Amino acid sequence: MVIGILGFQGSVIEHQKMIEKLGEKYKIVKKIEDLKGIDGIIFPGGESTTMAKLLHIFGLYSPLRDAIANGLPVFGTCAGMILLAKEIVGEEPHFGLMDIKVRRNAYGSQIDSFSTHQKIEEFGNHEIPLVFIRAPWIEEISGETRVLYRLDGKIVCARENNMLVSSFHPELTNDLSVHQYFIRMIEENNRG
Ligand code: GLN
Repeated sequence: MVIGILGFQGSVIEHQKMIEKLGEKYKIVKKIEDLKGIDGIIFPGGESTTMAKLLHIFGLYSPLRDAIANGLPVFGTCAGMILLAKEIVGEEPHFGLMDIKVRRNAYGSQIDSFSTHQKIEEFGNHEIPLVFIRAPWIEEISGETRVLYRLDGKIVCARENNMLVSSFHPELTNDLSVHQYFIRMIEENNRG
């Protein structure tokens, strides 16, 4: 299994380290050829508008959108979640693939970043650290999207078939369970 990590900017190395710890291979994706042979892709946290611009500049936007629309497993953390959303409050969407409406910087500015520990049943029976940095939340879901976790009433983790998104950053913690879950999504997809 090879897991792509969109490599323009943001928490790329942090995701890479999680994949390495779980014993899987990774590939940093920055150009069209890098999409060959990947079994899934991670969109890291960072700045969604910058990533979207670079996706267009490097010609990755359409092939990547097609691949995800055709079932390539994707895990979007924070900015990555914003990239996938069909609706962004007050802005045009980017990939527009997932039936979620997101609000950017919903928790306020950089100084309003925070962390907490919560149990998310989909990922296991223990509490995991949740780190929020200028995070979005999901205001609404529709279609086949499932809420995986609400924090104080706000949706911060969801899944729609091959797409997994979180407002928080598992890659900035020592807990591997969310990445482990994504690897299981890829295994299930590879089995067909
Ligand atoms: N605020 C960023 C955005 O809107 C997301 C922040 C993050 O990924 N930590 O793209």
